Amino acid sequence: MRDLRVEYLTPAGPVCAVDGVSFDIGRGEVLGLAGESGSGKSTVAQALLRILRPPAVISGGQVLFEGEDVLAMNEAQLRQLRWRKISLVFQSAMNSLNPILTIGEQIVDAIQAHQRVKRSDALDRAVALLKLVGIDSSRLTSYPHQLSGGMRQRVVIAIALALEPPLMLMDEPTTALDVVVQKEILHQVSELKEKLGFSILFITHDLSLILEFSTRIAVLYAGKLMEMAPSQELFHAPRHPYTKGLLGSVPSVRGPRKKLVGISGSPPDMRKLPGGCRFHQRCPSAMDRCRSDVPELRELGPDHIEACHLDSPT
Ligand code: SF4
Ligand code: MG
Repeated sequence: MRDLRVEYLTPAGPVCAVDGVSFDIGRGEVLGLAGESGSGKSTVAQALLRILRPPAVISGGQVLFEGEDVLAMNEAQLRQLRWRKISLVFQSAMNSLNPILTIGEQIVDAIQAHQRVKRSDALDRAVALLKLVGIDSSRLTSYPHQLSGGMRQRVVIAIALALEPPLMLMDEPTTALDVVVQKEILHQVSELKEKLGFSILFITHDLSLILEFSTRIAVLYAGKLMEMAPSQELFHAPRHPYTKGLLGSVPSVRGPRKKLVGISGSPPDMRKLPGGCRFHQRCPSAMDRCRSDVPELRELGPDHIEACHLDSPT
């Protein structure tokens, strides 16, 4: 993604939801996208698949997937891209399963919608897919209401893997589930990723999950990229005050007890963004120039970028 810009065309004028976001996702990598709600995380994922709904429009930048320009694709090309190349698992996906079809029928339908295969072959594939996500083949004849939330979300993940896409977008994939089930599912996804070699864009507001499951993390604030670094580095040596604030609000079970700090205030109204650094109203280190000058993204080290005046020479 290069310099992506997404605007919502409202009657009161355009509202910029994503402003100049760039990143790469390598093969087999999990890129975590962190940030509070409304920071533009889901918008980025939807732009990547070109499934944004009006009044949202992509007003600038580039999305390149395996060298192909996604923003220039026509409908037929997009159909080839979606699901086959890039699949999507979102939070309420488990509720999007059809209540009157069995799990088996839905997986088979999903396969046959994209590939010309015999029903019996698709059924074999459905059994294998369920096994991949740890569900017994006896569940093929179950209806969604007969499965727990965790199992339903696993079925959705199985469907997302059906065509072995090289990239899976996971937007708050486990947020609706309890903590234990969340971890179980994400561990399973990590194992599958190792086995099958796909890449993941992992979106969640839950920083502890993102730290555990991502290779690299990008932190978004009010539609802008604030910091991006390998997970371990971001965790042990965060540089941006917003990243520090996010980390300060994550409780730790190991190490000495510390007070949870959190970040005061709330994200800005995207219709009335503050000038200068978008975080300045909440930043404990804000200086005069933060109110007027927009900090540019700078390289701090290998794979580590950040946008903050504290780290830039005046
Ligand atoms: Fe804080 Fe200024 Fe850095 Fe923004 S640029 S994060 S306001 S110190
Ligand atoms: Mg979202």
